[in-house]
Amino acid sequence: MSRKILIINTGGTLSSVMKENGLAPGLSTFDMQKELHIVSGDTNLEIEDFCSLDSANIFPEDWSKLAERISQVRNDYDGIVVIHGTDTLAYTSSMLSFMLRNINIPVVITGSQLSITNPVADAMENCRCAIHMAASGIPGVFVAFNRKVILGCRASKVRSLSFDAFESINYPNVATISSLGMNIDTNAVPSRNGVFQLSNRYSTEVCMLKMFPGIHRSLLESLQDQGYKGLYIEAYGIGGMPFLKHDFISTVEKLIKGGMTVVVGTQCRYEGSKMDVYETGRRALEIGALQAHDMTSEAALTKLMWILGMTDNPSEVRDYFSLNIAGEYGKSICL
Ligand code: ASP
Repeated sequence: MSRKILIINTGGTLSSVMKENGLAPGLSTFDMQKELHIVSGDTNLEIEDFCSLDSANIFPEDWSKLAERISQVRNDYDGIVVIHGTDTLAYTSSMLSFMLRNINIPVVITGSQLSITNPVADAMENCRCAIHMAASGIPGVFVAFNRKVILGCRASKVRSLSFDAFESINYPNVATISSLGMNIDTNAVPSRNGVFQLSNRYSTEVCMLKMFPGIHRSLLESLQDQGYKGLYIEAYGIGGMPFLKHDFISTVEKLIKGGMTVVVGTQCRYEGSKMDVYETGRRALEIGALQAHDMTSEAALTKLMWILGMTDNPSEVRDYFSLNIAGEYGKSICL
């Protein structure tokens, strides 16, 4: 029996058309149905419009509603494909990995660098890969792009123009497509261990900051005054921060003492943090900063938003953050 797949469209370049003020989403799934059916193979395809946004206009409330919609229909389909703009796709795929933890079907997010109306676009190939993965029966949240399938919480947009826009960071690809067909690496699929339960609350009192020589500590202090509860810092190298002439670490300590959760990661794309090596990292660990290890910035930030949506208690946040929820960190089995 052919697999039943739902395509949910949120917009992005894939569905874009040239408008008066530049390229913007404009095609509905109805407008794209011919192309989508061409690449759907023997699946039984249904289509649905969720929104029509450039992904720069996607916000956490959209993640929450999208997760709710997927949760509502998850038992009616064998798999779901979400069409999304590429710019914030990795944030969405990371957050959906948490909100839809233990989902029982494949949820595959895709987009493209050129509109589906362009005859040389990557759009149809990406949809083909996404639909094929959605029909695979392998549950989880994934990103399909340029003949690769990436675990949703490991994806990052690494190129702004090329078709090969996404990479799996610090983690193997879940699947690749070659002349041998789609090859799925089942070892790269985290095992489900628990029943699915929609968990789509979040906090927006979370800030992300990139460290740079010359950064003012007052910037950090103002976050507390504004009521932020969480901060993710993209620090240097394996997680270093200044503590001499400009004592950033003692400012972070003040924030932590005031109840804020501070997570420190790295601005290097690959290989993650290891804060116990240098004094610049170890001091931050000693004052209570958490480290992101090999998580992407997209996963670390959304994980913090997600956890702070459930609890404000700093020690609970710390405990939750150390768990591997959806395969976002380490090589171990998810909890
Ligand atoms: N600006 C577009 C978006 O993120 C880019 C794309 O989809 O490739 O919606």
